[in-house]
Amino acid sequence: MSDQAHCAAATAAEAPLRDLRELMLEELEQFVAAADERAFRARQVMRWLWRRGANSFDAMSDLSAEFRAHLKNHFKISPAPGAAAARSSDGTRKLLVALGDGEAIESVIIPAGARVTLCLSSQAGCAMACEFCATALMGLHRNLTAAEITGQIAAARRELTPGEELTNYVFMGMGEPLANYPRLARALSIMTSAWGMGISPRRVTVSTVGLVPAMERLLAEFPSVNLAVSLHATTDELRDRLAPINKRHPLKSLIDACRGLPIKRRDRVTFEYVMLAGVNDSPADARRLVRMLGGLKAKVNLIFFNPFRDAPFAPSTRGAVEGFQAILQQGNLTATIRESRGQDIAAACGQLYAQRHSG
Ligand code: SAH
Repeated sequence: MSDQAHCAAATAAEAPLRDLRELMLEELEQFVAAADERAFRARQVMRWLWRRGANSFDAMSDLSAEFRAHLKNHFKISPAPGAAAARSSDGTRKLLVALGDGEAIESVIIPAGARVTLCLSSQAGCAMACEFCATALMGLHRNLTAAEITGQIAAARRELTPGEELTNYVFMGMGEPLANYPRLARALSIMTSAWGMGISPRRVTVSTVGLVPAMERLLAEFPSVNLAVSLHATTDELRDRLAPINKRHPLKSLIDACRGLPIKRRDRVTFEYVMLAGVNDSPADARRLVRMLGGLKAKVNLIFFNPFRDAPFAPSTRGAVEGFQAILQQGNLTATIRESRGQDIAAACGQLYAQRHSG
């Protein structure tokens, strides 16, 4: 190899190709314009990628060979990640999704009649350190890229039975989605745009422990995506302990942020409340919750605590959960009880604790 050629090869190796699966339409449009191609080519490429399932540039058969070569010089298309699936007796399927660097994350398919929900992870591990959550034990390994977030959808689709289709998407897997905001936002754009996967934003829910500034940004940038706030306590003293991020964003700022929303948007906030025996499940807690959420027309989702190894909590009794629900309903709150699914394969909320492959 001549010196010059050697240099060129070294430069190419130093500048890694961008993953087409990370790109926003506008970015591809700029690339197309700079390449002197017709503007509609950008949408055409995105359509191949997100609707027609192309895994290579060569599959994009109505592009010129020249333009395909140009694309190849600047981009790669990451393959959908591989996944191993475990099936629960209740139909819930847990996917262990392998990422390129040996990290693994979990996604869960939860069928319930015609509704098939995919529970997505946003980070490998989590830094939020909630005391009742198994993922917290891992600590934060790293943020997922937008391609890794949407890659879970491709991996899940491969596990569906004929005729089955994903209908709802919830960011309630591993990680705190709003602690990974830029990549989450990219993934949400790809998921909900007409040029991307074309999923209705009303079928997407982002669940957060309450990172208030990022929450406000999400609501402004994705006004139709649903928000779920993990509350779990009615006093700062208890919430500081259960969800330590409360020390930075205390209850009042969290609830005020929800109260500040336009009324239509406010109606679509769900508060999640994990029921911990003798900790946050008393009638006095329920009454405080009614006062705290008064006037919000909020929905409260009561969740049975799913135990994991060495967890310092026990689930509330069904009687306690139903009594709590009754007080909320008397206080004009909509309160539902979330039945736990997939416990036998540790796929239930708070049980996601992927082991490193190399571990
Ligand atoms: N970090 C985000 C999303 C992941 S957790 C958040 O905090 O909302 C998704 C839901 O599972 C949250 O409401 C969380 O509180 C709940 N959860 C966590 N551990 C749980 C456990 N052991 N049992 C039941 N629910 C749990």
